[in-house]
This record gives sequence, C-alpha cells and structure tokens, in this order.
Amino acid sequence: MNKALRKAIIAGNWKMNKTRPEAKELIEALKPLVKDASCEVVACVPFTNLETVLAAAEGSNIKVGAQNCHFETSGAFTGEISADMLKEMGVEYVIIGHSERRQYFGETDETVNKRLKAALNAGLKVILCVGEMLADRENGITAELVALQTKIALKDVSAEELKNVVIAYEPVWAIGTGKTATAQQANEVCAIIRGVIESLYGKAAADGITVQYGGSMNAKNAEELVAQPDVDGGLIGGASLKAEDFSVIVKAASNG
Ligand code: PEP
Repeated sequence: MNKALRKAIIAGNWKMNKTRPEAKELIEALKPLVKDASCEVVACVPFTNLETVLAAAEGSNIKVGAQNCHFETSGAFTGEISADMLKEMGVEYVIIGHSERRQYFGETDETVNKRLKAALNAGLKVILCVGEMLADRENGITAELVALQTKIALKDVSAEELKNVVIAYEPVWAIGTGKTATAQQANEVCAIIRGVIESLYGKAAADGITVQYGGSMNAKNAEELVAQPDVDGGLIGGASLKAEDFSVIVKAASNG
C-alpha cells in the first residue's frame, strides 16, 4: 500500500504532566523546532492546559488535542468533559481508548465506541488507541484482539466519519516501559489494523487511514519505526515532554 496516500501524524500524549507555565514553555520551545515539519504535529495535553496551549500554538503548525471526552453532550457527570466543550474551545483532536483509561478507569470497548461517536458528532478528530497486553501477545491472540477492539470501537461509524479517525496501535507492554515493539512487530499489527479497515470500509479507506505506532517511541528508535510501510507516524508519551526529543521524532516522520 502506498504510504504517500496518507498523512503521517506525530502526536504527543502529555498524560498528567505539566502545569500551565510549563505547558507554555514546552510549546514555545517546540514551535521553532517543528515549524518545517511535513507531517502533522499534535499536542494532546491535560484539560487544564488546553486554553494555554491553544493560545501558545496559535498561528503555528502545532494542532491541539485532549486525552479523553465523555459520551454525553452535557449533564450530571461530575468530573467529566464533553466533546462539545472541547470543540467550542478550538480543540481539534481527542485521544479515545488509551490503554491507561482502559486499565485504570474502567474504559471498555463499548464505552470507547460511545466516546468515539460523541467526539465525531462534535466535529473532533479522534486518535483511537488499540493494543494488546503482554499476556495476549504471549497467547498468540494479538491479531484477533486488536481486530476486535477496532471493530467494536468503529461500530456505527460511517465511511465519511472514518476520515476523521486516526488509529494508534499501542501494545500495552510497550507503553512507558522503555520496551519498544520491533519495527517488524509494529508494522505487522498496523497492517492487520489496515486490513480490518479494508474489510469494513474498502480499499480506498484502508489506503487513506493514518495508523500510528505508540509505545516507548523516542528520538533514537523513531526513524526505523516510522519508515515501516504501514506505520504512519506515532503517538508519543514520555518523549513528547522534551521539545528536542519530540522534534527529532517529528523530523523522522517528515522524512519517512
Ligand atoms: C502513550 O502514552 O500513548 C505512549 C505511547 O507512552 P510512551 O511513549 O511513554 O510509551
């Protein structure tokens, strides 16, 4: 499949890090380093940093994302944020179904589907995370599990809506562990996900969808990972907190 048909995206997932002054400082440091990027650059930041980061990134090529949203538009859901609230602020992307939400906050494939649809309905672009646990890989069920997660997450999503979905393959055993999937492993599962998209939506949709790899991607290993034929950039946790490291990954994806 032709990589040139789709957009590589490097998205930072800051997780629960950075106060507002620290967030501003990081974006200001990042702006000159990524200004010539030919891939898309996204910073997915804590809710409390959104306004600061939107202002700091204005006029630059850095797009802003959140890390979750609720599936209802409003109501009695203490502590939650709706997709409409994010959209109204000017937020463009939202991560849905990150493995930390699935592991620590009871997120299921069904709630991932509900949140994803709410985000699309609000006009947001979604970075949908899927990936297996170490035990799943050892039991040889990675392909089935990732296919299932992808299918359930995309239930009742139209081909038109799919254009606003990016999928991040994130093996849970590689997130924040320093253990990266090999480039071959990453490519193999990204290709499986693309195959699932082809079975659901056809070849053009499969050729066009951005499938990222995420899991301990850093300035040293990014080049090999993003050069893989089915890997269209990355979702970056730890290494997105340092402007220099993140910009090296952005450069790798701009060349790859
Ligand atoms: C992530 O949080 O999505 C992630 C990939 O984290 P890390 O790069 O730190 O493994």
